[in-house]
Amino acid sequence: MRLRWLRAPGILKRLFPDFVWRYNADEKRVYLTFDDGPIPESTPWTLDLLKKKRVKATFFCVGDNVRKYPELFRSIIEDGHAVGNHTHNHLKAWHNNTPKYVENVIMASEYIDSKLFRPPYGLIKSSQLKCLSADYKVIMWDVLSGDYRQDISPERCYRDVMKKVRPGSILLFHNHIKSERNMRYTLTRLIDELKEQGYDFGICH
Ligand SMILES: [Zn+2]
Repeated sequence: MRLRWLRAPGILKRLFPDFVWRYNADEKRVYLTFDDGPIPESTPWTLDLLKKKRVKATFFCVGDNVRKYPELFRSIIEDGHAVGNHTHNHLKAWHNNTPKYVENVIMASEYIDSKLFRPPYGLIKSSQLKCLSADYKVIMWDVLSGDYRQDISPERCYRDVMKKVRPGSILLFHNHIKSERNMRYTLTRLIDELKEQGYDFGICH
């Protein structure tokens, strides 16, 4: 199951006010984020595009993918992007007890040097959060791109995202095979359009 909301619902924001859902609304800046990589099918393409467009982003990496593709991870860092921890095995919070979950985050931290964490599926138990909050800042999102959805066209994906973007938005895309078609189309158009509108692009912090 994946969250299908384009914007994280208000109730989650009220339950977890310490999470970062959006940055400064007074600045015309957005924050691109890419979850689940690095993978060879997607990350090199993403990095090429970002380089071409002179845009920085944040990659929430799965530790086991960093272990498998260390050179891709190095490219992310060398290109000046930020990275975050997305657990070692993309764990579902509600299927794992707190020690197991935390251990998996620690395992990923051996590959990913970052104080940023994003829980897979955007959900985390309060007991798990309690253990992680001293060491990590939890970064959620403001605009879920829906790039992984097979039931929408790339054009629809792009339009849905553009409708939701606002100053300070954190945009969630994926470096995942399922997301390729929609992500490539949407990202390419979106960067140009947002630049045209006067936005610049920041990294999560
Ligand atoms: Zn994920």
